[in-house]
Amino acid sequence: MNATLLSREETILDQPIEYLKGVGPARGEALRKELSIHRIGDLLWDLPFRYIDKSQITSIAQAKSLQDTVQLKGIFTEKLIEGTGHKKRLVGTFEDSSGEIEIIWFQRYKEIDQWVKTGKPYLLYGKVQDFRGKFNIVHPEIEEITEDKTLSSGLEPVYSSTEKLMLKGLDSKGRRKIIKQLFSQLRPHDIKENLSAVIISKLRFKNRFETFKDVHLPANNNDLQHARNRIKFEELFFLQLLLLRAKVKRNDTVRGFVFGEVGNLFNTFFSEKLPFRLTEAQKRVMREIRKDMGSGKQMNRLLQGDVGSGKTVVALMCMLLAADNGYQSVLMAPTEVLAMQHYKSISTYLEGMDMQVAFLSGSVTGNARVQLLESLRTGKIHILLGTHAVIEEGVEFKNLGLAITDEQHRFGVAQRAQMWTKSPIHPPHVLVMTATPIPRTLALTIYGDLDISILDELPPGRKPIVTTQRTEAHRSRVMEFVRAEIAKGRQVYIIYPLIEESEKLDLENLMDGYERLLGIFPRPDYQISVVHGRMKADVKDAEMRRFVEKKTQIMVSTTVIEVGVDVPNASVMIIENAERFGLAQLHQLRGRVGRGAEQSYCILMTSYKLSKAAKERLDVICKSNDGFFIAEADLKQRGPGDIAGTRQSGAYEFKAANLVEDQAILRTARAIAEEIITNDPELKSQEHIPLARYLMSEQRYKQDWSRIS
Ligand code: ADP
Ligand code: MG
Repeated sequence: MNATLLSREETILDQPIEYLKGVGPARGEALRKELSIHRIGDLLWDLPFRYIDKSQITSIAQAKSLQDTVQLKGIFTEKLIEGTGHKKRLVGTFEDSSGEIEIIWFQRYKEIDQWVKTGKPYLLYGKVQDFRGKFNIVHPEIEEITEDKTLSSGLEPVYSSTEKLMLKGLDSKGRRKIIKQLFSQLRPHDIKENLSAVIISKLRFKNRFETFKDVHLPANNNDLQHARNRIKFEELFFLQLLLLRAKVKRNDTVRGFVFGEVGNLFNTFFSEKLPFRLTEAQKRVMREIRKDMGSGKQMNRLLQGDVGSGKTVVALMCMLLAADNGYQSVLMAPTEVLAMQHYKSISTYLEGMDMQVAFLSGSVTGNARVQLLESLRTGKIHILLGTHAVIEEGVEFKNLGLAITDEQHRFGVAQRAQMWTKSPIHPPHVLVMTATPIPRTLALTIYGDLDISILDELPPGRKPIVTTQRTEAHRSRVMEFVRAEIAKGRQVYIIYPLIEESEKLDLENLMDGYERLLGIFPRPDYQISVVHGRMKADVKDAEMRRFVEKKTQIMVSTTVIEVGVDVPNASVMIIENAERFGLAQLHQLRGRVGRGAEQSYCILMTSYKLSKAAKERLDVICKSNDGFFIAEADLKQRGPGDIAGTRQSGAYEFKAANLVEDQAILRTARAIAEEIITNDPELKSQEHIPLARYLMSEQRYKQDWSRIS
């Protein structure tokens, strides 16, 4: 297609990929299928995943100790074809003044054998490997050094490729050719500016054309980093614009029930039932929530608090406020165990009060279910607690005023939205509680459209839990310690991992451990509960209850007790095979002790040999009791992709930005986005036209933006 045939607004970037010189129909199809590159412009966003520095030459001696991708300069002293059948290969000995290394070709070795000459100087580029004590490079890039050959000065981008693309000549080298072709045709104004002049000058960015050019064809590392920073900023900034815009829009248009009244129920609970004084943090959070619920706008709030910070009672007081104003509430938990725990503790809190509390999960069926749904519809039930069964179709409320999710990051945005539909008048107030803290950077991206409250104080009298790591060699001493604690009247958890793939083995492990304990702590002086996922619910419950009622001193369990369980008299938590648990889970488990006033202990039993990552995790847990600190460490160690919750929020797959490394850029992006949305929520001003135009045209933002504008 000729450029003059394009409409005024369209540029070469809008054309189908096969129209680019050097691509054509076959390669175009491959790019579409393999990498979702449809238009020529998509090439720009397919960023190199690393760069190789070809301006450096490494000596062979050094290359062997580096075992990395290097560029070597030297001569072949020898080469011969070895092996038979499909193992046939060309092996060359490559030498410089520091030593020699084997170079191996399995493919096209005949061709290469003819072309490569011994005694002549070459540049090789490839990864040095240690193969059974011998170093080699397999299939390096190879280039003859001629008189006029100078070293390339720049960084060479490396693009992802696939087998199919390679067959079409689109390996990294082929991809570089295409990108060079594109930039030879592009004119600066083809890549439209998407930031305002103010932002560009404030952050000293180059224009977008230069930026993409520097990312794909960098002249030096400095230009490259500068350009990558701009691209990271763009990704984080436009997402923040969307989230903040959604928030403002909701505030402007969505009305909320006014819970103006603090009535009998709340007051009775507060003065007669509440068994302790609220912490300052709980009071502050209640004020924040009450302000929201009285404003006439819908509340959308995230409640973050460390394990044991007392979120349940906050949730309960909110539900009482709703009831005082004549509305129903629902609390949704991610697992049946946790939902049941909430049901029990809330029922206990409300004993003697005129409140109907009900429990709903998939296991509530038949007549019980029919009756429950009916009572919900007629408004007889004030508080519903349950699993995601509470948002399923067929569950209707009379007047749902408040929806709370106890997230554990397991519910996605879609499920939260489903809550909205449960109220016919206007949507209920929404409170999202996280079971363990998440780092601020993640909160800003996953929950960026919510207001945030933080319970940053534990109830008084809690002593930090003493955490230590022990191995099999210490087991008898650990058991003596357990005996001493039990003698003081305390209770003990012993947790075994249960991971699905090895479920059977793990269960045997747990039962072995249980048998062994029976030997060490014999009846009738000692009683031991045992709970695991394969047990029937009523057996499990009975075992649990025996522990809660102090009839047993030891609870042997899998991680089913991870969340919610609340036995303040328990003071020792022993975690077997602790190296198999993640940081967040270890912190959750440990949070089961230290809930009373006694000094509590967490003992991490591990094997002698630990991977580096496991060692790091255990160090963090032994060192700190602070959930926010642990969450940051978790994010650093695992990367954001592995932190539960980020995957579901699929919109946030960044091409360049990284939530661990780019926190500073995120803060800047958030601050600038906040200022803009406060002053010009619809991006109507002259200055903000580039922003609005970009959000309306860019595939990944288009839909969201039109929905909220
Ligand atoms: P989480 O935030 O982990 O859900 P919980 O709501 O389960 O924490 O509370 C942990 C424990 O602390 C419970 O035993 C609860 O009764 C108790 N608790 C909550 N608030 C206070 C308070 N202000 N003073 C004393 N104990 C409290
Ligand atoms: Mg809780």
